[in-house]
Amino acid sequence: MYDMYGRLGVSREIYDFGQSVLQELKDRFDSIDGTAEYNQAKVIRAMQNSRVNAACFNPTTGYGYDDAGRTTLERVYADCFGTQDALVRPQITCGTHALAVALAANLLPGDELLSVSGRPYDTLEEVIGVRPSTGSLAEYGVTYRQADLKEDGSFDFEAIAAAINERTKVAAIQRSKGYQTRPTLSCQAIGEAVKFIKSIKPDVICMVDNCYGEFVQTVEPSEFGADMTVGSLIKNPGGGLAPAGGYICGSQECVDRCAYRLTAPGLGKEVGANFGLMRQLYQGLFLAPTVVAAALKGAIFAANAYERLGFKVVPDGREPRYDIIQAVQLGSEELMSAFCKGIQAAAPVDSYVTPEPWAMPGYDSRVIMAAGAFVQGSSIELSADGPIREPYAVYFQGGLTWPHAKLGILMSLQKIHEIRPLDI
Ligand SMILES: *Cc1c(COP(=O)(O)O)cnc(C)c1O
Repeated sequence: MYDMYGRLGVSREIYDFGQSVLQELKDRFDSIDGTAEYNQAKVIRAMQNSRVNAACFNPTTGYGYDDAGRTTLERVYADCFGTQDALVRPQITCGTHALAVALAANLLPGDELLSVSGRPYDTLEEVIGVRPSTGSLAEYGVTYRQADLKEDGSFDFEAIAAAINERTKVAAIQRSKGYQTRPTLSCQAIGEAVKFIKSIKPDVICMVDNCYGEFVQTVEPSEFGADMTVGSLIKNPGGGLAPAGGYICGSQECVDRCAYRLTAPGLGKEVGANFGLMRQLYQGLFLAPTVVAAALKGAIFAANAYERLGFKVVPDGREPRYDIIQAVQLGSEELMSAFCKGIQAAAPVDSYVTPEPWAMPGYDSRVIMAAGAFVQGSSIELSADGPIREPYAVYFQGGLTWPHAKLGILMSLQKIHEIRPLDI
């Protein structure tokens, strides 16, 4: 092992440090394996219920009428998420697009959107129009209000009650922390917020941004009353095999509206060729529970390793997990850069390139990203990124296999150790 890690660039002392951290994590890893086992059974059962068969993998072209593979996949997703229906499409280009469709489909001019989990994910600011943007909801006369989370990261029910008014149409809840250092919300906590919102105004549509949360627990937000649960296929539910796509699982009415928005009024779910991507979407969903388990082990390993070295990590080494993201506050651009170099150097693809910060579309500060992925931008694959701003935190996520996630973290420690010797 020393010899192989040595050839990859990981020194004996870094490897030994990693092993000593891992010794403490056996029980955590066992419980992650238990969740994966449960979710694997859930996915298999959903595929059996919908009688998935080889014909589901056939490509369709053109309009994509009568696409049995597409229809069946949407039933399988609805089954896994416990919803009436689902929209699962390669035509949904990413998570932001899925969320934009879900919002635009259900908000009409004069309606108000309320975020009850504080500031939304960076790219949604332009979708909503918090930052002025062409085609935003604001341009269409949809207003926006926000109820911040409390200091401890829990919902502020008083603020939510005060923000709901006769125009409130959709309430958005973001499960994951995104580029913030607040706790991620559990499905149970999300359920309480949904119940509270509906007790004040029953017709408010509750939409959960579920990015990075799928299969982390044995339940999903849709099982706690959310009307729409939305995410990206190049994150958790694509299992690393989906080459693109997004999903919206929810009530019949909401999903229908989303389909009419995504394609065209009158066409809805009936069109949309699958371009031969169906096998990857099914097989990726099949692999997703164990891929998510690998990513979670990596996140917990990173948390414990960096915490032991005195860095602030969110979540901390012992907290329960509700998404696969690990934030590590490194305190400077230099250390963020070293961390990302380590992740990049551990990659199977593009391992020889050096990540540099750049101005990415949709983000308001420079962002550094490390990824050596088979699927461009896939963040269920081992990746790290973060905006170059206080508190100089990197957000680490993914890993299709646990050994790869482990290597990435060891490499990040190695690169930091080389410029600022760690006390290991
Ligand atoms: C990744 C993510 C999104 C969407 O991002 P895309 O890069 O467009 O897929 C939205 N919200 C959260 C919390 C996310 O993590």
